[in-house]
Amino acid sequence: MLRRTGAREIHVRVSSPPILNACYYGIDTSSRGELVASRLSVEEIRASIEADSLGYLSINGLIEALGLPRQDLCLACLDGRYPTETPTEAMAGRHALETSGLAP
Ligand code: SF4
Repeated sequence: MLRRTGAREIHVRVSSPPILNACYYGIDTSSRGELVASRLSVEEIRASIEADSLGYLSINGLIEALGLPRQDLCLACLDGRYPTETPTEAMAGRHALETSGLAP
């Protein structure tokens, strides 16, 4: 659409690191398959959206922007290190967590 309206170049910047993993704490991403960054490389995503370039914020950049100690942050959807035990993919999803008593 941008190219049709005259854009000669499209450079996309995402103000988050790529989201690679499901969240089990309230953001309802029930499986990794729903997350484009878990299935495709940054270059593959760039090509799929037909942008000239694509860049994401780094995890360290996010932490720096937040100004909080890394150990105080959940970054599980970004780095896969969950602060609690997680359900299996088959059990994943906010509703499953809420009804299992695992949700915080
Ligand atoms: S940082 Fe943690 S709580 Fe926040 S969306 Fe990602 S996995 Fe969920």
